Order: sequence, then C-alpha cells, then structure tokens
Amino acid sequence: MDARLLERRQTPDGSWNYVVAVEVPADVVQPIQGESYDLVPTWRPWILHAPWMGRPGILHAAGCPSAGGPRGIGLRGLTTPQARQVLAAEPDTIRCELCRPEP
Ligand SMILES: [Zn+2]
Repeated sequence: MDARLLERRQTPDGSWNYVVAVEVPADVVQPIQGESYDLVPTWRPWILHAPWMGRPGILHAAGCPSAGGPRGIGLRGLTTPQARQVLAAEPDTIRCELCRPEP
C-alpha cells in the first residue's frame, strides 16, 4: 500500500509511529453523519493560472512546480472537462512548457 507520510512520532520507548495519508476512491468510504466536510481541501488534476497583466492563462498539471504563485493567487483547480473547455474556449491559454498538461 502506498501512503503519504505526514508525520513521524517517536514514542517514549524510542520506537516510531508514522502518521500517513492513504488515497482511496471516494466510493469506498462513507461520510460520518453530521460531520461537515466543507473545509476539506479539494485537489483537482489541472491548475489554471489565470491571465495576468497581459500574459495569457497557463494550464498546468497539478503538482507542477511552475504552478506556484504568491499564495496561490490567480490559481484555480480544474476538472479534466473544465481544462479541456478552457483550452477550447480560450485559445490564448497556453500549456505549461514544464509539465506539458494533456487533459
Ligand atoms: Zn506546469
């Protein structure tokens, strides 16, 4: 099983526990009734860096190091259909030369 390591915790006896995140398909988990998930960060596979100061919009694959920006300003996560729509409807939008997204 692959898991993302979030934190290492050393116990008083010197052994280690790992706190990990496991990615699973949404249909294998159930929400807890009464629990709010509104603040859970939502990851999308594509990122659009909006047009800015005469520069065209730039489409990135999520995780592209070039998709950063000051505090994420101007960045918007897109689904695959949304990314395709942007490329079709906004011909000035370019694909990042580093990650070369292919939605
Ligand atoms: Zn990129």
